[in-house]
Amino acid sequence: MKDTVATGTLNAMTIDVEDYFHVSALAESIDRKDWSAMEYRAEQSTTRLLEMFEQYNVQATFFVLGWVTQRSPQLVRRIHAAGHEIACHGLTHELVYRQTPEVFRTETRDSKAMLEDLIGAPVLGYRAASYSITAQSLWALDILCELGFTYDSSIFPISHDRYGIPGASTRPGRIRSPNGSQIVEFPLTTRKVLGARVPVAGGGYFRLLPYWFTRWALQGVNEDDQMPFVFYLHPWEIDPEQPRVRASLLSRFRHYNNLEVCEQRLRSLMRDFRFTTMRKLLAPYLEAA
Ligand SMILES: [Zn+2]
Repeated sequence: MKDTVATGTLNAMTIDVEDYFHVSALAESIDRKDWSAMEYRAEQSTTRLLEMFEQYNVQATFFVLGWVTQRSPQLVRRIHAAGHEIACHGLTHELVYRQTPEVFRTETRDSKAMLEDLIGAPVLGYRAASYSITAQSLWALDILCELGFTYDSSIFPISHDRYGIPGASTRPGRIRSPNGSQIVEFPLTTRKVLGARVPVAGGGYFRLLPYWFTRWALQGVNEDDQMPFVFYLHPWEIDPEQPRVRASLLSRFRHYNNLEVCEQRLRSLMRDFRFTTMRKLLAPYLEAA
């Protein structure tokens, strides 16, 4: 059954394809070497997202983690075959500012090549683990250009304990990397509310804030700020049955809050707004290169 299609500005629908045990908020509690022994659930929750997107006639961009690409190559092919865009979420979910440029270059090149081999098409877009391109790791943009990426969506123009560049542009557009190369950046969407920049377009914020607030804020981005927003979600966010991991109170709150309402909210969002892939939305900027 196809649902009714919303009208209005086209926005970007993006999914960071990783599992609950990859998440930075829980990384303090899970050793990387134990990943392969954890109950793997990303494939089934990503499949559920694909079914929902088909129902609402939404095309999305999937930033796939290299670890998932290795584990589920057929999933990557299925996403691509369904007409969605495949993009790169790095190899190991290490924060960029904790890597050396050399390690970042190798891992990012390898994860891009794995995806391109699987789908037989170029991968244009990149999103860093936990939006970890910050003022300390802007060098990563040089390397993304060098590796042939034409757009990035890793910069969160807010202050946060793990990510963010307060004061960075909030609009999609071309930016210069430190060595003078150019790349298109689609910053994660924020909205000014009572004088403060609030992240309003995905993940934990989508689960924490009441849906009416999200809808009001995103309508404001489209109508008052006159620009598209980028919505993001992870497959584990529509999987309330996932195994619980011991972690700090803050991390558990960020990870587990409102998982059970997330799928219904996503359905409401797809009824209320129009979505497409990042690549299609950014085409005017990419062509101007
Ligand atoms: Zn991630």
